[in-house]
Amino acid sequence: LIQLYVPLNVLGFVYRQLRQSLTDMETMFSLAAVAPEVADRPDAPPLRVTGGEIRFEDVVFGYDPRRPILKGLSFTARAGSTVAIVGPSGAGKSTVSRLMFRFFDPGSGRILIDGQEIGAVAQESLRAAIGMVPQDPVLFNDTLGYNVAYGRPDATPDEIRAVLDRAALGPLLASLPDGLETRVGERGLKLSGGEKQRVAIARALLKDPPILIFDEATSALDTRTEAAIRDGLALAGRGRTMLVIAHRLSTIVDADLIVVMEDGRAVEQGRHDELVAAGGLYARLWAQQSAEPEAAPAGTSEEAAS
Ligand code: ADP
Ligand code: MG
Repeated sequence: LIQLYVPLNVLGFVYRQLRQSLTDMETMFSLAAVAPEVADRPDAPPLRVTGGEIRFEDVVFGYDPRRPILKGLSFTARAGSTVAIVGPSGAGKSTVSRLMFRFFDPGSGRILIDGQEIGAVAQESLRAAIGMVPQDPVLFNDTLGYNVAYGRPDATPDEIRAVLDRAALGPLLASLPDGLETRVGERGLKLSGGEKQRVAIARALLKDPPILIFDEATSALDTRTEAAIRDGLALAGRGRTMLVIAHRLSTIVDADLIVVMEDGRAVEQGRHDELVAAGGLYARLWAQQSAEPEAAPAGTSEEAAS
């Protein structure tokens, strides 16, 4: 019996460790996008977040170094500000979020948080400081409550309900006979891309990090849900730095700064009114989307996320 017990115990330990490290990696990122090897330097100090300023300095990066995706990207998100990144599909917007979470290191240039280069600090501390809502989250085959509280197992059901509410999932939750105990994922309740993303938003809100990165799903949302998410984000952005990668420009008109990316560079930066007045790429994107009554950008769907 003891012989049997020990290995099982060890297995249980390994399993829990694995689950924990998967949290740290925020597995909700599509696995395809995860870097094979980004290692801490020996004695890498922890990141010390003071205000949460994010700075990209001339960052060059390609998944394959022969094909650069970011071609000298520079922008600064001031501490506590909300910065939107917009631009055509394939511009490198989601890549920015992956570099922030250090799934990859840039080929050249620097990424700094409060003056500390993120490649030089302990990854664990970097990832603890950042809440990440990926464009295309993957849920665990477990309960809804588990999926939200993952990484904060001490969260109470009331806390979980509160963040689900802020992520505009209150009505869905209310419709589930088993509530937070409802199984989701491949073998449970099938959630739409937008709903999965809102579960990821709820999870990030529960984590309550000083930096929040939100890579908006390209899937179409109904106008009410969109408004609810916009309000939720406005609340979520209070007291922290927030990077919002947006497809629906209506979500980010109030951003402190909008960075317009095209082909791996920031081609325009400014506030909404300034960019509309400037009459460049942003103004064109805005005119296009304003012409569409249901804010879903043309040619995108849940399958065609970019
Ligand atoms: P956006 O979010 O602006 O649509 P992405 O940052 O997702 O753009 O992608 C920019 C470019 O990088 C695209 O050409 C895409 O095909 C490529 N890319 C994205 N992820 C990977 C990856 N994991 N491996 C190789 N190429 C990738
Ligand atoms: Mg993207």
